[in-house]
Amino acid sequence: MQLIYSPIEILNSMKRSIDQEKISKNALSVISKLNKEGFEAYLVGGCIRDLLADNVPKDFDIATNAHPSDIRQIFRNSRIVGKRFQIVHVRFEREIIEVSTFRRLDTKVIENQSDSGMILRDNSFGSLEEDSLRRDFGINAIYYNPISKQLIDLQGGVDDISRKVIKSIGPIDLRLREDPVRMLRAIRISEKLEFELENDIKESIRIEAHLIQDVSPARLFEESLKMFMGGYGARVFLKLKELDVYKWMFPNNGSPVKESNLELLIRKALESTDQRVLRDMPITPTFIYAAILWYPFLAERSRNIKEMGLNNYDASNEAASSVLSKQQLITSIPRRFSTPIKDIWFLQFRLNFRSGKKPFRTLQHKRFRASYDFLLIREAAGEKTGDLGDWWTAYQAASDEERQNFQKFARKKPHTSGFRK
Ligand code: ATP
Ligand code: MG
Repeated sequence: MQLIYSPIEILNSMKRSIDQEKISKNALSVISKLNKEGFEAYLVGGCIRDLLADNVPKDFDIATNAHPSDIRQIFRNSRIVGKRFQIVHVRFEREIIEVSTFRRLDTKVIENQSDSGMILRDNSFGSLEEDSLRRDFGINAIYYNPISKQLIDLQGGVDDISRKVIKSIGPIDLRLREDPVRMLRAIRISEKLEFELENDIKESIRIEAHLIQDVSPARLFEESLKMFMGGYGARVFLKLKELDVYKWMFPNNGSPVKESNLELLIRKALESTDQRVLRDMPITPTFIYAAILWYPFLAERSRNIKEMGLNNYDASNEAASSVLSKQQLITSIPRRFSTPIKDIWFLQFRLNFRSGKKPFRTLQHKRFRASYDFLLIREAAGEKTGDLGDWWTAYQAASDEERQNFQKFARKKPHTSGFRK
């Protein structure tokens, strides 16, 4: 098997090459400096994978044989970060380039692993070949030096990209046990690039999905953002469901709503987010998490009213806190997102009131727009709201004077949220 290519050969074998123009100038300068200091340095991982697959790279990662302290000395604008493994961030005005030292997998060191085989520390330096072996998938282990134009492919990644498949480096069950987040990476990357997951990857994910429970909530939250905010969230969601991973990240805490209705709402919220990414509009995890947890929240709220005898206001507050804190145990949602999630939920009830001064006050709320969008998503997912969405669409478009007349059409009795039986 050929392992080292020049770009011309890639062009011939894959009918594409690496577009030098798309490579970050900052990354080029880091590699050039490291080379001048006598170190090897390559672009590796997602950036090369995405360039070869005709996608836009998100960030540029560099692997080198220089140690963190060497890198730190060469770049004044740098700092060492990370516990699980140390990497160096080289800072530029608008970009951070991550530089990591070649590593090897030290599976023999028992104290570095948890009982389930999860790798807890991973800081033994190694050669480029050893470094390629500890990466997750062949397509993520292609090394490219954009200055010498040398491409090194020790794990068959170039071939995988041309066949649009994702293959594991080493036995997949072992690799998933070492780091269960690899399941989420496999699903995310396959949906991003529209590549197939090899069958053994799919099978192992189904078997090992429960290991998601061992991953830290902070890391899972970060991963959930990458999965749902990249512009292909709806597809990732369906794949997470198909491979039985979803329930470990978002257990349906007793919502009586039919599974299909629950799914539809989340899918609609994700499809709308995907559309916004496509159009370069701002997006937020708030909206997605609000959709994922909406029915569990409603279920808890109605239990609070029926079984605990709480009033609507207390029932909502208590339910929101309890549903969010249960989810925090799995994906740690920072407060800057959890507070607006509650606002969106609580406003759903206020949107029901269409008479008197209430609609005007609702319109002034800083979270009105997100709440109105959320209402439309609920309707798109089949919730019966009595054409509330249309009413608010017209109300927003109306002049102040016209709004007075809206009162005439306002219904006396607000609809309650949820599906009508
Ligand atoms: P993207 O940046 O587009 O989200 P990526 O594959 O570059 O995808 P990063 O988190 O930037 O993801 O990681 C860079 C590279 O580091 C990966 O391509 C892979 O080679 C390696 N890597 C990252 N996470 C893992 C992991 N959990 N297990 C093994 N290798 C990993
Ligand atoms: Mg990357």
